[in-house]
Amino acid sequence: MRQVQRRVEQLEEQQQRLMTQTREAAPAVRSQPLKPGEQRQDNPLRGQDERTSTDEMAKLEAEIGRNLDQYAKRPKRYQLTATSARGVDYAQYYDRLRRRIEARGTSDFPQRNGKPLYGQLILVINVNRLGKLGYNRDGYNVDAIDVVKSSGDPALDRQAVAIVRAAAPFGPFTADMARAPGHPRSHFHIQVFAQRAGNSLAGTLMTSTESSQPADRYVVVGNPVAHSRSPFIHAAFAQQTGEAVEYGRLEAPLDAFADVVRAFLAGGGHGFNVTVPFKLQAYDLADRLTPRAEAAGAVNTMWIEDGLIHGDNTDGVGLVRDIQDNLDTLLEDKRVLLLGAGGAAMGAMLPLLECRPSRIVVANRTATRASDMLEEFVEAADSFGVELWGGGLDALEQLSEDDVCDVVINASSSSLHGELPPVPAFLLGEGVLAYDMMYGAEPTVFLQHAAQCGARTADGLGMLVEQAAEAFYIWRGVRPRTAPVLGAARRAAGRAQG
Ligand code: NDP
Repeated sequence: MRQVQRRVEQLEEQQQRLMTQTREAAPAVRSQPLKPGEQRQDNPLRGQDERTSTDEMAKLEAEIGRNLDQYAKRPKRYQLTATSARGVDYAQYYDRLRRRIEARGTSDFPQRNGKPLYGQLILVINVNRLGKLGYNRDGYNVDAIDVVKSSGDPALDRQAVAIVRAAAPFGPFTADMARAPGHPRSHFHIQVFAQRAGNSLAGTLMTSTESSQPADRYVVVGNPVAHSRSPFIHAAFAQQTGEAVEYGRLEAPLDAFADVVRAFLAGGGHGFNVTVPFKLQAYDLADRLTPRAEAAGAVNTMWIEDGLIHGDNTDGVGLVRDIQDNLDTLLEDKRVLLLGAGGAAMGAMLPLLECRPSRIVVANRTATRASDMLEEFVEAADSFGVELWGGGLDALEQLSEDDVCDVVINASSSSLHGELPPVPAFLLGEGVLAYDMMYGAEPTVFLQHAAQCGARTADGLGMLVEQAAEAFYIWRGVRPRTAPVLGAARRAAGRAQG
């Protein structure tokens, strides 16, 4: 008995070592210089105050990190009294499942004498509420057990899958697990290590991060990604909601986005955000897209469901929530002028149309790109009863006082280059909300100009926080309160709302 216990301890130690190696290997990518013309999405205005605000941000992040650590150190009390008991329920269930598989694995695992087969494979196991393998609701054709990383020997992989199958069913979910929103089933990553024991191979099945580490792992993937504020925002959401979430940055080489995120998921990662320049690649990578991601043609939020990679775009809904909820400007029956026709403008269109403004005018530097975008959304605009028109930026000069819009959104990256789109002053007068998706330590040139013309101004920090909240909700089924987090992010950025 003592021998078995010792072995388990050894294996747990080894597992820890391997997990550490996996974590270190995942972001095994060094910073690469920007290519000419590439843009930074996060912290795009990098002014002289940057160092101060970065220091402050680091201090706040450290404080949040310390608080999260404190939570993690008293898991029993915290998990049992938290509003969401899902974390501990899932962990307990997962641990039972693992032990059950492991019991079979250690006794039944085949020996392959003489052949130094030895490696690691990762299985994703789909379990439904009844603890049975596989789930085909919504017409998904999913294998109950996927080998996401082979041991290198197909025979060994097949044997491991057979062992898991033989160990099922694993028993119904607890009531709390079954009630958890958005989680009618679950996926468990099981790492299988086949190890040499003397002259033969002994197999054992071991858990990935979930049982040994309470926090589920998420990252923002980009290049560069060092300036991303998403870890700060998600850490604040996790602290506020009591969700056991760990959120970091992952820089992918420009030509290896798919490989890096697949490795992250295979290593136990739960989901990730995507930032510049990978949103289009993320769109291509997704097995399933939400309607708003489909409409945007770009993806910023991804997760695994039914063994498939799902992609959503939360940028547009983040923009709309910021305008309507944080800035108290209902868009219904309002007139909106949207500057730009790039990824951010595309992502904003459907959520804007869904608010049923009376009109959306799109103006873009390259007129044909604006017309292409209008064509994409003409049907949706029709169905929401929204008048839709637009063209090149020069067309703005032909507008009259009658064409003044209630909200002017700069979805172009002009501010990134310190350039001002040619919006006539009368379009930015009193009563108009001028919104720039960019944010930074100082008001953008667009916002400075709009303020001089008399408009109320807002930058895109609220949009960033709101899109993050939507991603958090998708992943965790819990909607965080954004106002305190936006306040903290703004204080950290060292400036007040314009
Ligand atoms: P894209 O590169 O996809 O598109 C850029 C757009 O800006 C194009 O329409 C382009 O016009 C236009 N543009 C570029 N330079 C100028 C200029 N000097 N004058 C006028 N128009 C110009 O970028 P995105 O759509 O992804 O991003 C746009 C902005 O939105 C960025 O500043 C980004 O930081 C911000 N953003 C903010 C988010 C937030 O959460 N707050 C989220 C996503 C984006 P053309 O077609 O002629 O090239």
